[in-house]
Amino acid sequence: MRPPSTEGAADTEEFPNLIAGERISSPSGRLFANINPADNSDLVGHFQQSTAADAQAAVNAAAAAFARWRRTPITKRAAILNRAADHLEARADQIALEITREMGKSLGLARDEVLRSAQTLRFYAVEGQSLTGEVFPNDDADMTVYTLREPLGVVSVITPWNFPISIPARKIAPALITGNTVVFKPSSDAPLSGYRLAEALMVAGLPKGVLNFITGKAGEIGPDITEPPVIRAISFTGSTSAGEQICRAVSFVTRTQMELGGKNPLIVMDDADLDLAVDLTAKGGLSLAGQACTGTSRVLVMKQVRAEFTARLLAKVKAIKIGSGLTSGMEMGPLATAKQLETVLRYVAIGKREATHLYGGDRLTGAAYDGGYFVSPAIFTDVTQEMTIAREEIFGPVIAIIEVDSYADAIAKANASEYGLSAAIVTRSPRAMHDFASDIQSGTVKINRTTTGNLINAPFGGLKRSSTSTFRESGRTGLEFYTQIKTVYRGI
Ligand code: NAP
Repeated sequence: MRPPSTEGAADTEEFPNLIAGERISSPSGRLFANINPADNSDLVGHFQQSTAADAQAAVNAAAAAFARWRRTPITKRAAILNRAADHLEARADQIALEITREMGKSLGLARDEVLRSAQTLRFYAVEGQSLTGEVFPNDDADMTVYTLREPLGVVSVITPWNFPISIPARKIAPALITGNTVVFKPSSDAPLSGYRLAEALMVAGLPKGVLNFITGKAGEIGPDITEPPVIRAISFTGSTSAGEQICRAVSFVTRTQMELGGKNPLIVMDDADLDLAVDLTAKGGLSLAGQACTGTSRVLVMKQVRAEFTARLLAKVKAIKIGSGLTSGMEMGPLATAKQLETVLRYVAIGKREATHLYGGDRLTGAAYDGGYFVSPAIFTDVTQEMTIAREEIFGPVIAIIEVDSYADAIAKANASEYGLSAAIVTRSPRAMHDFASDIQSGTVKINRTTTGNLINAPFGGLKRSSTSTFRESGRTGLEFYTQIKTVYRGI
């Protein structure tokens, strides 16, 4: 196939869909703009406003490529992942710049994300080669009983804008190494990073149709890439409402892996290192402007240390340098979209009515801010678990401080949430550390660490409405999602 051009990155370039190995513009002739949330005059690119027919073409291409790809030797599949990783690493600076321009995070975080995506490809190139079935002892000396792990077929990968290349990488790499073919739809708010990943895999030699990249608004093409029976699995990361809608619409034979919202608590015990607690709160709650699914949004603080913790947190938060991800020394970037800005300001207004507003939550103005979606971080105190700002996911730089009077009180309040993605405790007590791991209702448990961040090689996912209770992402479990088991009884 003809590899897509990497010349003339970004600016006002028009980016095609990548279907059946070809660069294809939607026959609809419609495009949508991808703009820089720190500077709305900066147009990152135009993307295809695809139609149902484009989506069907992508699904058909993936279906046509499956029979051959599943029989492609696994070492060849692994070599393609490794070459794609080389490609990403060689272009890390360019892709990082594009990530910053399309969704706002700092250049440093963006570069880390590109390199992490390359590592993810390499991890699955190795780990995928040792995913095996089992052999079962039995009484018949002339029979062998074993399981085969086989690919599912066509899988859909649908991703959000906050980690626009690493989330696609951690879904697509395990799908490909296990022999599945993929239809990939990135967020309409940050599609360029996903394009770069698809491009890297194609330049690396991925056969036509094995990965099909398609852009377009969920409202127009969502059902076409989730509901056709040929789609055997959907790996989705995004809001709980969208994930639940997809699950309701698909047949029970479609396997789903939904990584959804969170309302992540951090507990500060009275024996905590308060400087550490403040650092973890600010880092977990405000880096990425609070737009991480595992971001800290509720801080449950013991009564004895609440005043001191709050004073130190306020001092830290007031000193945070806010600006474009392209400026050196910035610590918090813009919100990623106009909709995000509107949502955060709405929740700040709600917070001001229901709790005590200590700081921030204002739209920033001035030369450095007028062109983008900048807000100051907001801190509320006297929050109770019943309040809206303690219950609903805000997905912005808003921290709610909730006072607690015992470990049991902290656990009860932390668990009084419909979400269960990530949770942390700051304490010096081995007993509290030990108990927390078992008492907390959360898929990710952190002790003296931020609620954010997870390893490539360890399972990741949530409990309750934060994830489907099926297969975890990342690590070895990320491979299991994309395979099905056959049990073979083989006589002579
Ligand atoms: P979103 O609005 O739900 O969108 C996520 C992706 O799903 C986008 O590509 C979107 O397309 C698509 N989509 C939405 N509805 C769909 C439907 N009915 N059918 C098919 N596709 C559909 O979420 P977001 O605003 O991008 O991301 C923020 C959310 O993601 C937060 O709730 C956050 O907690 C969650 N998140 C979770 C994790 C995790 O691992 N648990 C990680 C990161 C983010 P369009 O862009 O075209 O609308």
